[in-house]
Amino acid sequence: MNFINVERFTPKLIAWQKKQGRHHLPWQLNRTAYRVWLSEVMLQQTQVTTVIERYQAFLERFPTVDDLASASVDDVLAEWSGMGYYTRARNLHKCAQVVMNQFDGIFPSDPEQLESLPGIGRSTAAAIAVFAYGKSAAILDGNVKRVLARVWGVQDDLSKSAAVKELWAHAETLLPDSSEDLITYTQGLMDFGATCCTQSNPACSVKGSMTCPFLNACQAKKLNIIQNIPLKIRKVKVSKVDMNWWVVVRDGKVLLEKRAHQGIWAGLWSFPEELSLPVGSDILDGKPIQHLLSHRKLTIQPKLVALKKKLPKMGDHLSWVGFAELDKLGLPTPVKLFLKDLNLARDGA
Ligand code: SF4
Repeated sequence: MNFINVERFTPKLIAWQKKQGRHHLPWQLNRTAYRVWLSEVMLQQTQVTTVIERYQAFLERFPTVDDLASASVDDVLAEWSGMGYYTRARNLHKCAQVVMNQFDGIFPSDPEQLESLPGIGRSTAAAIAVFAYGKSAAILDGNVKRVLARVWGVQDDLSKSAAVKELWAHAETLLPDSSEDLITYTQGLMDFGATCCTQSNPACSVKGSMTCPFLNACQAKKLNIIQNIPLKIRKVKVSKVDMNWWVVVRDGKVLLEKRAHQGIWAGLWSFPEELSLPVGSDILDGKPIQHLLSHRKLTIQPKLVALKKKLPKMGDHLSWVGFAELDKLGLPTPVKLFLKDLNLARDGA
């Protein structure tokens, strides 16, 4: 990579953030390590509008790292319900317990120590160190990689670790000297990638109230290769998975299964995928559901069961749950939606 000098990137970004950046996001107020960490983890794979809705509710449920560590993982998953990528919620819980048990309830300020905690990668560790402790550390999330690669015209394959290593080194050279500017600069990188130099349709020239401060310096713009950057050749392999849902309702309760701690929707509640039914039960196939996960395409066949007799002995992983109790469980989005329809149909029946 050739990181030619792009004049005054850092001061320009700081000036841009002050004028056109975001200043009123809920996690920008009262920046404690706990609040910054939570927002960073939520923002990793969830849209900012959804995070704004869910962040406050999560904080109300678990106001401190101690509250989060002492909760059950089921409660944490229930509060996370619908946001997807549930490993994040399980890691939040584990990380809170490590902070309580090994750091006396106070997040460390050293980026390397932060990075050793469950679910905290290098960029998240840097964001916590900068925003909560004013330490000098570089962030490099997906948005920042795109911004740096475009401004400097980096056409290397960013799915390769050598290329990312060089971007990290470059990100470190761009950090402002003054600790006062660090927060504005880091927030500026996040804001610029999220609102101006977006993946598709970046605001190179004036767009609404947004203008790019790097218009004349940006190599991707100059060479007309914006849509080719960032280059990622390695594609995620998506495998197809077929599953059955055995949907059984009895006396205002629905039969649900706590899923195993590994695999799809680990630790969440769903309809049983296998069930021994009493002889004579009626089974009706519902409309198949398609659902896309990060690496899997699910085709789900709901099987609606009318029981004539009681179910034979049930395993510990199965439970009858009242419709009013469903909010207390961690449910994957398609299960939640299906249950909502089922409840409406039940009410309408
Ligand atoms: S000119 Fe366009 S592509 Fe280049 S940094 Fe600005 S917004 Fe991004």
